[in-house]
Amino acid sequence: MQDCIFCKIVNKEVPADVVYEDGDILAFKDINPQAPFHILLIPKKHIPTFFDMEEGDGQILGKLHEAAVQVARDFGLTESGFRLVSNCRAGAGQVVFHIHYHLLAGRELNWPPG
Ligand code: AMP
Ligand code: ZN
Repeated sequence: MQDCIFCKIVNKEVPADVVYEDGDILAFKDINPQAPFHILLIPKKHIPTFFDMEEGDGQILGKLHEAAVQVARDFGLTESGFRLVSNCRAGAGQVVFHIHYHLLAGRELNWPPG
């Protein structure tokens, strides 16, 4: 998708601090971290929101969850844990319309979020 910042990161047209990559998934540090540890995990496929998912996309998101656990293990979060959240549509706080999950850790995380 031409004007999508995350597609540009996937295509290496925009730099990012990548921490995990495979055929379907990319994970990189959030440019405006909300916690000491703030990683974004995205499918390489451009899917604007969960409502735009097509057949087979669920498998990709399953792999994304596995990648999130691997990233958390790699960064030593096994004991302290982490939060994995996704904002779907503007009303929920979505700003970039390419599905992504925020992996947050490294500070006390309150619930419910604001
Ligand atoms: P959301 O509000 O859920 O759509 O989250 C979008 C996230 O993308 C925000 O936390 C931004 O800080 C982050 N973000 C936007 N542009 C970039 C970028 N070029 N590199 C890394 N993170 C970005
Ligand atoms: Zn995109």
